Amino acid sequence: MVLIAASTSIRGEKLAKAVYRNETAARVVGVCVRAGLITAILLVITACGGSSSGGTTGMGPGQSVCGGFGQWDQSDFVLPYTVGETYRVNQANCSGFGHSDFWDYGYDFDMPIGTVITAARDGEVVHAQDGAVDGDRAQTNLITIEHADGTVALYSHLTLNGVHVTIGQQVFAGDPIGLSGDTGNTGGLPHLHFSLHPCGALPGLPGTGNCSSIPVNFRNTDPNPEGLVANRSYTAMSF
Ligand SMILES: [Zn+2]
Repeated sequence: MVLIAASTSIRGEKLAKAVYRNETAARVVGVCVRAGLITAILLVITACGGSSSGGTTGMGPGQSVCGGFGQWDQSDFVLPYTVGETYRVNQANCSGFGHSDFWDYGYDFDMPIGTVITAARDGEVVHAQDGAVDGDRAQTNLITIEHADGTVALYSHLTLNGVHVTIGQQVFAGDPIGLSGDTGNTGGLPHLHFSLHPCGALPGLPGTGNCSSIPVNFRNTDPNPEGLVANRSYTAMSF
């Protein structure tokens, strides 16, 4: 909870839904969303913070049931970090906290600032923004990559000077693309936010901002037929 202490989580969730249904977000920054009413000004602020901690146990406000995953071992996607490395999923899908509604299918991987992140699938960089310093909760360094089927992957909260690709660049699964960090509303926990969207119209980026996250799982790690599970660590295997 950063910058939005004035709002209750329940009210925030309702606001978030209203914002996305009506597409009237006054201001949106970064990724995972949490909303608050602050002195009558509507602000939608990304927040991967507010860990589910309970993972799939317990119901958080706004928590829903996720589904619709494809065959995990035939997924087009690999984990977005270096083969051989292991990271914990702090917040998975439909947590009811930062990952609800628009961001239902996001993943947060705990990793120290400066960890190499890699492309999860072949594609073209369609957006890249850097310049925020770690600890800056108002801006997020991020990369989006569009795949052959038109879907777009979002990699967010990168460190300052942690964007190592340029718009228009072609990348391949496993290519290093940047360094993780602690920019935007991470809840103070350095991590990589990864989510997949049916188009590149995301809040804060060019477009309508209404391409909500969609299910994604990964072929180069332990079985994850219903996506990755919170509070579990996953090793990226060779692919
Ligand atoms: Zn997140």
